[in-house]
Amino acid sequence: MERHYFDYAASTPVDKRVEKAMRPYWSKTFGNPGSLHSFGQDASGAVFKAREKIAELINCHYEEIVFTGSATEANNLALCGIVKAARKRGINMPKIIVSDIEHKSVLGSCCPMEYEGVEVVYLPVFKSGVVDLKRLEKELDNRTILVSIMYANNEIGTIEPVEEVSEIVRKYRKNNFYPLIHTDAVQAFNYLDCDVKRLGVDLMTLSSQKIYGPKGIGLLYIKDKLIKENLIFPIIKGGEQENKMRGGTENVPGIIGFAKAAELVYKDREIEVKRLKKLQNYFISQAKNISQEAGLNGDSKNRIPNNINMHFPAEDLLIKLDLEGFATSTGSACSARAYKASHVLKAIKLSKEKAERSIRITMGKPTTKKEIDKLLKALKKVIKK
Ligand code: PLP
Repeated sequence: MERHYFDYAASTPVDKRVEKAMRPYWSKTFGNPGSLHSFGQDASGAVFKAREKIAELINCHYEEIVFTGSATEANNLALCGIVKAARKRGINMPKIIVSDIEHKSVLGSCCPMEYEGVEVVYLPVFKSGVVDLKRLEKELDNRTILVSIMYANNEIGTIEPVEEVSEIVRKYRKNNFYPLIHTDAVQAFNYLDCDVKRLGVDLMTLSSQKIYGPKGIGLLYIKDKLIKENLIFPIIKGGEQENKMRGGTENVPGIIGFAKAAELVYKDREIEVKRLKKLQNYFISQAKNISQEAGLNGDSKNRIPNNINMHFPAEDLLIKLDLEGFATSTGSACSARAYKASHVLKAIKLSKEKAERSIRITMGKPTTKKEIDKLLKALKKVIKK
């Protein structure tokens, strides 16, 4: 049976050019970047260049990039690392503000902290999935050390107003360090400019596996001031790698692949955004023709171009489509096996019935109109069955 992949928000295939760039770093240039001999120096030189490349793309200094083992780890470092440092500074009852629709790696970092005396405020979102900024303004107080709002949601693709969030927080904090601003830009990077200065953020999470790079590598941008002023502490301790922010030997092939993938995204971004936007609009209009009861979840315009999340009048759509050879999803891959209604669909106040009959279709570089037509045909078949 022909198989078709529509789950690019979960993971992307490694670009052939990325694979090629990584090739020398498995067994030829294999040294430990921390070693002083020439083998080590060859590896550390390559890591340095990759770090510089990514820094240039997101408009920061290379020392502000901390490579991690995943975006999950980067989000944990951002949230737990900031809280840990705040405690050391004598802030015993810190408050952090996140949106209701953050990825589980942000929400999961918050949950244990609540048991340890951290107040966590979960900001509501509108039906569009956009965070309530008025509520953010109201919640900011002198105990608030961090605001973490994602740039693009992984389930419904809503683009959050990160620049406005930064403006509000900066206006409130004046010349103080706190509150700091973090954004999880994992789903945004393929389609939106992630210049940290324009966004006004102090911390930003990215992932390689979502941008046609290898798995097992993510990063956290940390503004230099935070490191210099001890406003963040590492959560993985060991050697002094990554500006002392993350112990452990660097994943050299992963870092090389990540940088190459990021470079390619920047090259192809504009064309890819236009191409996917067309496919997205086409799919949504055609899907509504299949059934009058079909509806889009989240915002139709303020949305990254690869994401389609819709409810249909049929149950078990994911399984039925999979049996037809089409891989879609119901939400984020990390909670797909939990069989729980999505916290994101709940947050946008979709009824339980519609939430349970929703699927997420995410497109990527290999997706074609022909493939979309095949998916629409299969969808029609399984819905009318
Ligand atoms: N943040 C967002 C928005 C995501 O979509 C994901 C993965 O789906 C992550 C964080 C975590 O990425 P990883 O599982 O690679 O650590």
